[in-house]
Amino acid sequence: MKNLSIALVAHDAKKDALVEWVGKYPDIFHKAALFATGTTGGRLLAAYPDLDLTRLKSGPLGGDQQIGAMIAEGKLDAMIFFVDPLSPMPHDVDVKALTRLAIVYDLPMACNIGTAEAIMHSDFFS
Ligand code: PGA
Repeated sequence: MKNLSIALVAHDAKKDALVEWVGKYPDIFHKAALFATGTTGGRLLAAYPDLDLTRLKSGPLGGDQQIGAMIAEGKLDAMIFFVDPLSPMPHDVDVKALTRLAIVYDLPMACNIGTAEAIMHSDFFS
């Protein structure tokens, strides 16, 4: 299997859940090239310093758009984006643009743990 390039993003209320979930699959995430928004990436590297993880800008400061550009350029294989649907976001337009591009380019995208688990147990990651 080729090394996958995976984007990881979590809103503040979901960051603990993402860090814990990534820790369930060390083999997969240690083999992948990871790209994360700034704060999410910092949390992941604090927990798992050996990850091959590139920290982009924080989401509200352009990180979501950086990931969107990577999707448009065909540089990502999947995106795990744990969204907080219960809090207003100042960068809601960026979040919408990012998920829209993932749909446009038919990128496998999980926005909650249930879907992330389903993808993880699919042929995609096996
Ligand atoms: P963050 O950005 O990882 O820098 O908090 C995530 C987001 O898009 O809200």
